[in-house]
Amino acid sequence: MNFDDYKKAVEKLNLYSHHYYVLDDPLTTDEVYDKLYHEVVEYEISNHDKILQNSPTQRVGDIVSDGFVKAPHLTRMWSLEDIFDAEDLQKWLTKTYKLDKNISFYCEPKYDGASLNLIYENGELIQGITRGDGTIGELITQNVKTIRSVPLTIAHKEKIEIRGEVVIFKDEFEKINNERLKKGEAVFANPRNAAAGSLRQLDSSITAARNLVFLPYGVGENSLPHKLLSEKMDYIYELGFRKPPQRSTCKGFDEIETIYEVMKKDRDSYSMMLDGMVIKVDEIASQIDMGYTVKVPRFAVAYKFPAVEKITTLKEIVLQVGRSGAVTPVAIVEPTDIDGVIVERATLHNFDEIDRKDIRIHDKVIILRSGDVIPKIIKVLTHERDGSQVPYIRPTLCPVCSSELLDEGVLLKCQNLTCEARIVNSIIYFASKPCLNIDGLGNKIVEALFTSGLVKSVVDLFDLTLDKLLSLEGFKEKKSQNLLNSLENAKGCEYWRFINSLGIEHVGEVASKTLSENFGSSFIDATKEQIVTCDGIGEEMAESVLEFVRVNRDTIQTLQDILKPLEPIQKEEAQENPFKAKTVVLTGTMSQSRGEIKDILEYLGAKVSGSVSKKTDFVIYGEDAGSKYDKAMDLGVKCITEEEMKEMLL
Ligand code: NAD
Repeated sequence: MNFDDYKKAVEKLNLYSHHYYVLDDPLTTDEVYDKLYHEVVEYEISNHDKILQNSPTQRVGDIVSDGFVKAPHLTRMWSLEDIFDAEDLQKWLTKTYKLDKNISFYCEPKYDGASLNLIYENGELIQGITRGDGTIGELITQNVKTIRSVPLTIAHKEKIEIRGEVVIFKDEFEKINNERLKKGEAVFANPRNAAAGSLRQLDSSITAARNLVFLPYGVGENSLPHKLLSEKMDYIYELGFRKPPQRSTCKGFDEIETIYEVMKKDRDSYSMMLDGMVIKVDEIASQIDMGYTVKVPRFAVAYKFPAVEKITTLKEIVLQVGRSGAVTPVAIVEPTDIDGVIVERATLHNFDEIDRKDIRIHDKVIILRSGDVIPKIIKVLTHERDGSQVPYIRPTLCPVCSSELLDEGVLLKCQNLTCEARIVNSIIYFASKPCLNIDGLGNKIVEALFTSGLVKSVVDLFDLTLDKLLSLEGFKEKKSQNLLNSLENAKGCEYWRFINSLGIEHVGEVASKTLSENFGSSFIDATKEQIVTCDGIGEEMAESVLEFVRVNRDTIQTLQDILKPLEPIQKEEAQENPFKAKTVVLTGTMSQSRGEIKDILEYLGAKVSGSVSKKTDFVIYGEDAGSKYDKAMDLGVKCITEEEMKEMLL
């Protein structure tokens, strides 16, 4: 890199930072940013005299935007040095041990959100300030007060700055995006952008609606007597702040590596997005001795996890037709490795989203793959277009049966009830795990049965015989007999499975169980008024059930005669106990699986619900309790730990 390249790289990084910190709309991935940043660092190491003042290495990255009143921090806020592998860790440890040999380390997650400084005086929250340039940030106290995990008062009376990260939990992020999609609004790219954007709203009611969570990671100005950071943090948690899902103190390379590997392995199971693990020297006196560079503390480092966002190229958009006829666009991308998995397909949400983002074939796009969630295209790099991009034209015909599609704006629908895709997918759904759980009826086999003409509807499955199956290519005696046995085993299933397998729009496993418990086989005669009285079933679902029954009454009857699903057994009345007839919600990690605890509670006569409302009697929470816990606290619902639950039963 020569000076000109260096200058250009600095300009590019500053442009990226502006989009990332001020506009909450990044132009590239962190990986690309970090790579260029390290090239700049390399250049500066060998060209000390040429370092530009506006280089991102010379200052904390955020730029203060003009929309807010600015406020100074009492003590500076810093960034963190990044390391990426064991070799980097070894180098950092060698460097750090040179400053002080007798140190231990405190490891905790590196949350991927937006930094926030809270200033408390006389036990009261007086200011909430974004990190800004590290010295001055944006004053967003009103917004911060809407975050339920930020205590408005604390028992500590001396002036203190509590620093932490504001995040949006992953489930909340999905919920917000789904709601935005339904309303035809643009979706947020990732939880980090959503959190940063929600925090810096001029209208506090928008911030309040986003269920942000504050996770403290340190203190600024303080007069705490503790000699170890880990002790200081324990004190902060006692004041009423949220604990991290995992934190450990340790010594040396091997222990740090072990903690890192565990955290990396568990990252998907946490409620919040993590982009690494932060390692900090635990001894406060050593921290003070080590001090800071112009940008970062010498006593801490961010050990990054593999990136979950990558840049790739959109090759084409293919269409999928679901069992309800909904046509969804799927992106086929240049295969790209994301954290060890080769990603070739990604969701584009819906056609409105393609129009809104102006996604074109051959566009460079940012793709996100995190956990088990389907990879998503979160951003189109329009500034990287080279003229070869082709706009996408909404289809008007079903890609499978060529019938005209109904354009509902967000959704396109194939209305042809005999469309092969609809039938095949409804058979696949019928046989799937949460429905009749029929082994040996995967996609390929269903397609083969359909194209051979043997199966044109789910009812036909039960007319299959050994001879018919043996006539199909690839079906030998054993495979055929296994399939016939599986079909036979599906008979006598639980009633809710039968309802679920019908594929009634809006009716999933939970609603099927509710309908089964309340009506059993007479659900087909239930009126709308009766259905809406069931817990968790609204008007839309009730209408969907009635419409389905109106159109398919004969098929339901035929299937019922074939399958003979078991009528739900009226549960024995549970003995008196504190949970009998109560509505309970479970959240967080417990000593037993949540399913097991649910079974115990249901045996005790409780109703275990998935979401917290005013009607909830108890929230039972474990480690890493999520937004349900916050909501319960907000609504004044009684929250108890698993141990407390067990004590109540003694
Ligand atoms: P950083 O986000 O990498 O690390 C410092 C920050 O981490 C702290 O300020 C704090 O807010 C946060 N943090 C989370 N958990 C923490 C914990 N347990 N302890 C201490 N701090 C914790 O640094 P930065 O200076 O904010 O940003 C630089 C990074 O931002 C880059 O590495 C890059 O990945 C990203 N970035 C991306 C773009 C882009 O265009 N994609 C642009 C600019 C910056």
